[in-house]
Amino acid sequence: MKSYRKELWFNIPTRRAFLNITPQVEDCLRESGIKEGLVLVNAMHITASVFINDDERGLHHDYEVFLEKLAPHEPVGDYRHNDTGEDNADAHIKRQIMGREVVVAITNGRLDFGTWEQIFYGEFDGKRRKRVLVKIIGE
Ligand code: ZN
Repeated sequence: MKSYRKELWFNIPTRRAFLNITPQVEDCLRESGIKEGLVLVNAMHITASVFINDDERGLHHDYEVFLEKLAPHEPVGDYRHNDTGEDNADAHIKRQIMGREVVVAITNGRLDFGTWEQIFYGEFDGKRRKRVLVKIIGE
C-alpha cells in the first residue's frame, strides 16, 4: 500500500470565505501516483471546515446567511467562549455545522465524485495562515 501526506496552507484575507480546493487535491492525487484508494481531506483548525458541495455562488451566499442566523459573529459578548478574550465562538460553531473532513474514493487515478461534487475549504476565522491535511492511501 502506498501512502501520501501533504499540508495545504491558506491565508484568507477575510473573516469568512468558501474556497474550492478540488484542483489542489487533484494535484496531490497526481503527485501521489495512487490509482485506487481513498483520500482524506481535513481542516487542521477548529474554526475551519472541509466539506463537499456544489460550486455555486448563490448556494455559498445561502450558507453564509444560514450560518450567520444560527451563530452570528456579533455580539461577541453573547458567547461564553469569548470570555477567554477570543472573538471566534461563532467560528467554532460554524465549523461544527459544516464539518471537519471529507473522504473521497479514488478510482482509475481520479476523484470518484457524485454529480456536481467539489471539495471546499470553509474559513470562519480567517486573516491568518491555516492548514488543510491531505492524506491518500491506496495502490
Ligand atoms: Zn476560539
